[in-house]
Amino acid sequence: MFIQLLSITFLLFAPGMAAAQHPTTVPLADGRYKTDILLVVAHPDDEGAATPYLARALDEGKRVAVVFGTRGSSGANEAGAEQAAALGHIREIEARNALVTLGVTNVWFLSGKDTASQNVLQSLASWGHGECLEQLVRLVRLTRPEVILTFLPGTFIGEDHGDHQASGVLATEAFDLAGDPATFPEQVSGPTKRLEPFLENLRPWQPKKIYYFPDADREDIFRGKGPEYSVKEISKSSKQPYWRMALESFRAHQTQAKSFLDSLAQMDEAQIEKMATSDGGWSDAQRFVLGKSLVGGAVTEDVFEGIMPGAIPFVRPELAPTPSKPELSMELAGPWSFYAEFRRSHALTNLPHPEPPEIALQAPGTLVIPLWLRNQTGKTQEIMLTATLPTGWSAQSGTGKFVVPARQVAAGRIEVNLPTLAENAPKKSDPLEVTVRAEANGQAIGEIKLRVELRKRALPQ
Ligand SMILES: [Zn+2]
Repeated sequence: MFIQLLSITFLLFAPGMAAAQHPTTVPLADGRYKTDILLVVAHPDDEGAATPYLARALDEGKRVAVVFGTRGSSGANEAGAEQAAALGHIREIEARNALVTLGVTNVWFLSGKDTASQNVLQSLASWGHGECLEQLVRLVRLTRPEVILTFLPGTFIGEDHGDHQASGVLATEAFDLAGDPATFPEQVSGPTKRLEPFLENLRPWQPKKIYYFPDADREDIFRGKGPEYSVKEISKSSKQPYWRMALESFRAHQTQAKSFLDSLAQMDEAQIEKMATSDGGWSDAQRFVLGKSLVGGAVTEDVFEGIMPGAIPFVRPELAPTPSKPELSMELAGPWSFYAEFRRSHALTNLPHPEPPEIALQAPGTLVIPLWLRNQTGKTQEIMLTATLPTGWSAQSGTGKFVVPARQVAAGRIEVNLPTLAENAPKKSDPLEVTVRAEANGQAIGEIKLRVELRKRALPQ
């Protein structure tokens, strides 16, 4: 390409020759793949979290593309006997069919593996974080989205699926990296020869805004953090409410919801609306949380406010300052400390997160409290860990005295046995508080609070 460009320049500017020669047309990016909105989710059927909004955006002439992190091969199958990889192949077709009902055909799958846990770090490890990031950065450069929509990266009481969180983490990383020519440079290099088999000839692309939707039960901390769209408004194109278009699209997911979809056949239109727009369905409004905008615009204004056609310069996110830590300390580790670092390094310190941190777990079972024990002093320290637990809960391991050598950070882990829930207990109970305290030399050096809700069923921690 570079050589080709040079020769064109030469032909155009060589005196006396320009008028006589036809300039060669330089191949440019394929316009069929340019998108306005790139939705990044984890599993086939997750797109349902945004389909009412996508239907609206498509009505307004926006172009939409979708990336799934996995094919959903660990899911249930209500439509047939197939499981695992075979089920993944079926769910890929279901996702394509669901989106085609809305008119969306640019749909891709990363090579992530459906991983049933609430721990984003396990999902990222199981997906192959680096490989999936490379794939997603490629798709951002290929589709050149103005806006990325994805799951909110954070941990909450709710389904809190680690894969959902992983899709939000990867989408955020890709938002910050796709515009950087030094990231995966082989993707943005021109070809060295005809039928180049290695270098991809994409261009860096900086998306303009990123919005999130949470995988959480609570709504309070997300209100007013982004735009809201009614799901009951009538679509110009289909003359149906947006929730109805979302439901029609969802009918493709037979493996995930055959019994639910069959039950719709027994309902009248009013019952269908009541069920589809109730809590847990497409309730009244579709809410987004603004992650960041590189083109201004008010937080709660329309997703496309301030967005003009054309590329914007690559912006390296500004790091928030590292909070100072005492020489001797204890803090919550695992996904919680990861997300604190993540928000800081992606200029997302505005992102809502619960304080104190929270999680919903299956009972009976085990609560694991991951810890960092920091000793930046010049001598070995003894740290005493104690846990204050609700009645009937017991610390199985991880409390007591621990020795941390000078200038070391050690990982700790308190495991707590969760009691059996009573037969007649509700599906969900009120969260209870767990407190972990650390002491050294008779002085308190840290205290952690965690709100834990016990459930009859939940994904593993
Ligand atoms: Zn999912």
